[in-house]
Amino acid sequence: MIIIKSEREIALLKEAGRIVALCHEEMKKHVKPGVSTWELNEICEKLILEHNATPSFKGYGGFPAAICASVNEVVVHGIPSKKQILKEGDIVALDIGACYKGYHGDSAWSYAVGNIKNQDQLLMQVTHDALFAGLSVVKEGVHLGDVSAAIGNYISQYGFGIVECFTGHGVGRELHEDPAIFNFGIPGTGPILKEGMVLAIEPMVNAGTKNVRVLSDRWTTVTKDKSKSAHFEHTIVVRKNGYEILTTL
Ligand code: MG
Ligand code: MG
Repeated sequence: MIIIKSEREIALLKEAGRIVALCHEEMKKHVKPGVSTWELNEICEKLILEHNATPSFKGYGGFPAAICASVNEVVVHGIPSKKQILKEGDIVALDIGACYKGYHGDSAWSYAVGNIKNQDQLLMQVTHDALFAGLSVVKEGVHLGDVSAAIGNYISQYGFGIVECFTGHGVGRELHEDPAIFNFGIPGTGPILKEGMVLAIEPMVNAGTKNVRVLSDRWTTVTKDKSKSAHFEHTIVVRKNGYEILTTL
Protein backbone atom coordinates (compact mmCIF):
# COMPACT_ATOMS: atom_id res chain seq x y z
CA MET A 1 0.00 0.00 0.00
CA ILE A 2 1.34 3.42 -0.93
CA ILE A 3 0.89 5.85 1.96
CA ILE A 4 -0.14 9.43 1.15
CA LYS A 5 1.59 11.86 3.53
CA SER A 6 -0.03 14.87 5.15
CA GLU A 7 1.62 18.29 4.85
CA ARG A 8 2.61 17.97 8.53
CA GLU A 9 4.43 14.74 7.72
CA ILE A 10 5.97 16.23 4.58
CA ALA A 11 7.43 19.05 6.69
CA LEU A 12 9.16 16.47 8.90
CA LEU A 13 10.34 14.50 5.87
CA LYS A 14 11.72 17.74 4.47
CA GLU A 15 13.74 18.37 7.62
CA ALA A 16 15.08 14.80 7.48
CA GLY A 17 15.95 15.43 3.82
CA ARG A 18 17.64 18.72 4.62
CA ILE A 19 19.90 16.97 7.16
CA VAL A 20 20.87 14.41 4.51
CA ALA A 21 21.59 17.25 2.07
CA LEU A 22 23.80 18.95 4.68
CA CYS A 23 25.83 15.74 4.89
CA HIS A 24 26.27 15.66 1.12
CA GLU A 25 27.37 19.32 1.15
CA GLU A 26 29.96 18.37 3.74
CA MET A 27 31.06 15.34 1.72
CA LYS A 28 31.86 17.54 -1.29
CA LYS A 29 34.60 19.10 0.86
CA HIS A 30 35.96 15.84 2.25
CA VAL A 31 35.94 13.40 -0.67
CA LYS A 32 39.54 13.49 -1.90
CA PRO A 33 42.54 11.22 -2.23
CA GLY A 34 43.80 10.02 1.16
CA VAL A 35 40.53 10.08 3.09
CA SER A 36 39.12 6.79 4.36
CA THR A 37 35.48 5.88 3.88
CA TRP A 38 35.35 5.44 7.67
CA GLU A 39 36.25 9.12 8.16
CA LEU A 40 33.40 10.08 5.80
CA ASN A 41 31.06 7.88 7.83
CA GLU A 42 32.13 9.55 11.09
CA ILE A 43 31.61 13.06 9.72
CA CYS A 44 28.09 12.21 8.51
CA GLU A 45 27.08 10.41 11.69
CA LYS A 46 28.22 13.36 13.83
CA LEU A 47 26.36 15.85 11.62
CA ILE A 48 23.16 13.79 11.67
CA LEU A 49 23.26 13.46 15.48
CA GLU A 50 23.98 17.20 15.87
CA HIS A 51 20.71 17.89 14.05
CA ASN A 52 18.66 15.76 16.44
CA ALA A 53 18.33 12.96 13.93
CA THR A 54 19.66 9.41 13.74
CA PRO A 55 21.39 7.63 10.84
CA SER A 56 18.66 5.59 9.13
CA PHE A 57 21.00 2.86 7.94
CA LYS A 58 22.85 2.09 11.20
CA GLY A 59 21.50 -1.22 12.41
CA TYR A 60 19.02 -1.46 9.52
CA GLY A 61 18.93 -5.19 8.83
CA GLY A 62 22.15 -5.28 10.86
CA PHE A 63 24.07 -2.78 8.67
CA PRO A 64 27.13 -1.80 10.75
CA ALA A 65 27.63 1.88 9.79
CA ALA A 66 25.82 5.20 9.38
CA ILE A 67 26.29 5.53 5.61
CA CYS A 68 27.01 3.29 2.65
CA ALA A 69 30.24 4.06 0.79
CA SER A 70 30.47 2.19 -2.50
CA VAL A 71 33.79 2.59 -4.30
CA ASN A 72 34.36 1.86 -8.02
CA GLU A 73 32.94 -1.60 -8.82
CA VAL A 74 30.84 -1.58 -5.65
CA VAL A 75 27.25 -0.93 -6.70
CA VAL A 76 25.59 -0.40 -3.32
CA HIS A 77 25.91 -1.19 0.41
CA GLY A 78 29.66 -0.72 0.71
CA ILE A 79 30.64 -0.74 4.40
CA PRO A 80 32.84 2.21 5.41
CA SER A 81 36.28 1.07 6.55
CA LYS A 82 39.43 2.58 8.00
CA LYS A 83 41.35 0.39 5.57
CA GLN A 84 39.62 1.82 2.53
CA ILE A 85 41.53 4.94 1.57
CA LEU A 86 40.18 6.81 -1.46
CA LYS A 87 42.71 7.39 -4.21
CA GLU A 88 42.94 9.62 -7.27
CA GLY A 89 40.72 8.29 -10.05
CA ASP A 90 38.22 6.46 -7.82
CA ILE A 91 34.51 7.12 -7.90
CA VAL A 92 32.54 6.70 -4.69
CA ALA A 93 28.79 6.61 -4.18
CA LEU A 94 27.74 7.79 -0.72
CA ASP A 95 24.24 6.79 0.31
CA ILE A 96 23.03 8.72 3.34
CA GLY A 97 19.82 8.40 5.37
CA ALA A 98 18.63 10.39 8.38
CA CYS A 99 15.60 9.88 10.58
CA TYR A 100 14.09 13.03 12.11
CA LYS A 101 11.17 12.74 14.54
CA GLY A 102 10.37 9.33 13.08
CA TYR A 103 10.60 10.31 9.39
CA HIS A 104 13.36 9.39 6.96
CA GLY A 105 15.30 11.17 4.23
CA ASP A 106 17.36 9.10 1.78
CA SER A 107 19.76 10.37 -0.85
CA ALA A 108 22.79 8.96 -2.67
CA TRP A 109 25.35 10.84 -4.71
CA SER A 110 28.40 9.68 -6.64
CA TYR A 111 31.61 11.66 -6.27
CA ALA A 112 34.83 11.82 -8.25
CA VAL A 113 38.01 11.41 -6.21
CA GLY A 114 40.44 13.90 -7.75
CA ASN A 115 40.74 13.57 -11.51
CA ILE A 116 38.87 10.68 -13.04
CA LYS A 117 38.75 9.09 -16.48
CA ASN A 118 36.34 10.57 -19.04
CA GLN A 119 34.49 7.26 -19.24
CA ASP A 120 33.86 7.31 -15.49
CA GLN A 121 32.73 10.93 -15.69
CA LEU A 122 30.25 9.89 -18.40
CA LEU A 123 28.94 7.03 -16.26
CA MET A 124 28.30 9.40 -13.37
CA GLN A 125 26.75 12.07 -15.60
CA VAL A 126 24.39 9.59 -17.28
CA THR A 127 23.30 8.16 -13.91
CA HIS A 128 22.69 11.66 -12.54
CA ASP A 129 20.78 12.71 -15.65
CA ALA A 130 18.75 9.47 -15.59
CA LEU A 131 17.52 10.43 -12.11
CA PHE A 132 16.36 13.78 -13.45
CA ALA A 133 14.88 12.18 -16.59
CA GLY A 134 12.73 10.11 -14.24
CA LEU A 135 11.83 13.10 -12.08
CA SER A 136 10.87 15.16 -15.13
CA VAL A 137 7.76 13.04 -15.72
CA VAL A 138 6.64 12.92 -12.05
CA LYS A 139 3.29 14.56 -11.28
CA GLU A 140 -0.11 13.52 -10.04
CA GLY A 141 -1.88 11.22 -12.48
CA VAL A 142 1.09 9.59 -14.23
CA HIS A 143 1.82 5.90 -13.88
CA LEU A 144 4.86 4.78 -11.93
CA GLY A 145 5.87 2.82 -15.05
CA ASP A 146 6.18 6.14 -16.91
CA VAL A 147 8.85 7.20 -14.42
CA SER A 148 10.68 3.86 -14.60
CA ALA A 149 10.59 3.89 -18.41
CA ALA A 150 11.96 7.46 -18.54
CA ILE A 151 14.92 6.40 -16.37
CA GLY A 152 15.56 3.15 -18.25
CA ASN A 153 15.24 4.65 -21.72
CA TYR A 154 17.64 7.42 -20.82
CA ILE A 155 20.31 4.97 -19.62
CA SER A 156 19.81 2.51 -22.51
CA GLN A 157 20.87 5.14 -25.06
CA TYR A 158 24.37 4.83 -23.64
CA GLY A 159 24.48 1.04 -23.48
CA PHE A 160 25.20 0.96 -19.75
CA GLY A 161 23.92 -1.84 -17.49
CA ILE A 162 20.83 -0.98 -15.45
CA VAL A 163 20.91 -2.72 -12.08
CA GLU A 164 17.65 -4.64 -11.72
CA CYS A 165 17.80 -6.24 -8.29
CA PHE A 166 17.71 -2.98 -6.33
CA THR A 167 15.02 -0.36 -6.73
CA GLY A 168 13.81 2.98 -5.49
CA HIS A 169 11.02 2.96 -2.93
CA GLY A 170 8.47 4.87 -0.94
CA VAL A 171 9.82 6.74 2.11
CA GLY A 172 8.10 7.83 5.32
CA ARG A 173 7.98 6.42 8.81
CA GLU A 174 9.77 3.46 7.25
CA LEU A 175 12.99 3.84 5.27
CA HIS A 176 11.61 1.48 2.63
CA GLU A 177 7.90 1.62 1.89
CA ASP A 178 5.80 0.69 -1.13
CA PRO A 179 6.08 1.02 -4.04
CA ALA A 180 9.28 -0.52 -5.42
CA ILE A 181 10.49 1.80 -8.19
CA PHE A 182 12.35 -0.03 -10.93
CA ASN A 183 14.86 1.78 -13.08
CA PHE A 184 13.35 0.36 -16.25
CA GLY A 185 9.74 -0.22 -17.15
CA ILE A 186 6.76 0.11 -19.43
CA PRO A 187 4.79 3.38 -19.72
CA GLY A 188 1.16 3.19 -18.64
CA THR A 189 1.76 0.39 -16.12
CA GLY A 190 1.92 0.34 -12.34
CA PRO A 191 0.21 2.49 -9.72
CA ILE A 192 -0.95 6.03 -10.50
CA LEU A 193 0.93 8.74 -8.62
CA LYS A 194 -0.97 11.02 -6.25
CA GLU A 195 -0.01 14.23 -4.52
CA GLY A 196 1.61 13.47 -1.16
CA MET A 197 3.33 10.25 -2.17
CA VAL A 198 6.97 10.40 -1.03
CA LEU A 199 9.37 8.45 -3.20
CA ALA A 200 13.10 7.75 -3.32
CA ILE A 201 14.13 7.47 -6.94
CA GLU A 202 17.58 5.97 -7.38
CA PRO A 203 19.12 4.71 -10.60
CA MET A 204 22.11 2.40 -10.11
CA VAL A 205 24.09 2.07 -13.33
CA ASN A 206 27.03 -0.14 -14.29
CA ALA A 207 29.56 0.73 -16.98
CA GLY A 208 29.41 -2.93 -18.10
CA THR A 209 26.77 -5.56 -17.62
CA LYS A 210 23.80 -5.25 -15.25
CA ASN A 211 24.81 -8.34 -13.28
CA VAL A 212 25.91 -8.00 -9.68
CA ARG A 213 26.94 -10.24 -6.81
CA VAL A 214 27.03 -9.86 -3.04
CA LEU A 215 30.35 -10.42 -1.26
CA SER A 216 30.79 -12.69 1.77
CA ASP A 217 30.20 -9.78 4.20
CA ARG A 218 26.57 -10.14 2.98
CA TRP A 219 26.35 -6.39 2.19
CA THR A 220 28.92 -5.22 -0.34
CA THR A 221 27.36 -5.63 -3.78
CA VAL A 222 29.75 -5.49 -6.74
CA THR A 223 29.43 -5.65 -10.51
CA LYS A 224 30.06 -9.17 -11.78
CA ASP A 225 32.39 -7.91 -14.51
CA LYS A 226 34.24 -5.53 -12.08
CA SER A 227 33.18 -2.52 -14.16
CA LYS A 228 32.50 0.70 -12.28
CA SER A 229 29.05 1.61 -11.00
CA ALA A 230 27.32 4.91 -10.14
CA HIS A 231 24.30 5.78 -7.99
CA PHE A 232 22.23 8.94 -7.58
CA GLU A 233 19.12 9.26 -5.42
CA HIS A 234 16.73 11.92 -4.19
CA THR A 235 13.69 11.64 -1.95
CA ILE A 236 10.83 13.65 -3.48
CA VAL A 237 7.16 14.37 -2.87
CA VAL A 238 4.67 14.10 -5.73
CA ARG A 239 2.78 17.32 -6.37
CA LYS A 240 -0.24 18.13 -8.58
CA ASN A 241 1.91 19.52 -11.38
CA GLY A 242 5.31 18.03 -10.66
CA TYR A 243 7.45 17.20 -7.68
CA GLU A 244 9.43 18.75 -4.88
CA ILE A 245 12.87 17.45 -3.86
CA LEU A 246 13.01 16.84 -0.10
CA THR A 247 16.69 15.88 0.14
CA THR A 248 17.94 19.37 -0.60
CA LEU A 249 18.98 22.47 1.35
MG1 MG B 1 19.70 5.62 -0.31
MG1 MG C 1 16.90 4.48 -1.11
